[in-house]
Amino acid sequence: MSDCLFCKIIAGEIPSRKVYEDDLCYAFHDIDPQAPTHFLVIPKEHIQSVSQVDENNQAVVGHIFTVIARLAGEMGMESYRVVSNIGDQAGQSVHHLHFHVLSGRDMTWPPG
Ligand code: AMP
Ligand code: ZN
Repeated sequence: MSDCLFCKIIAGEIPSRKVYEDDLCYAFHDIDPQAPTHFLVIPKEHIQSVSQVDENNQAVVGHIFTVIARLAGEMGMESYRVVSNIGDQAGQSVHHLHFHVLSGRDMTWPPG
């Protein structure tokens, strides 16, 4: 999608600090980290949010979770939080599906 920030990051048109990449997904450090470790994992295919996951694109979501689990293990993260905001009221600011992975500090519940 030409006007999508994260599609531009995937295309290399906007710089990012890569954590991991494969054919299906891309992981990079959040530009405004909310925890000592805070990276995002996104599908290379443009999907607007969790609300647009269906039978045709579900495989990439499962794949992203295997990537998150593997990266967390490799990075020695014993406790972490995975978050995906859907829609404006929930705080979604970039309308390309992404999973925040946050770790390295005490976290509260419920989230703000
Ligand atoms: P959300 O608000 O849940 O849609 O998350 C979007 C996230 O993207 C925020 O945590 C931003 O800090 C992050 N972000 C925005 N622009 C960039 C960028 N150029 N590089 C890395 N992260 C970004
Ligand atoms: Zn996109």
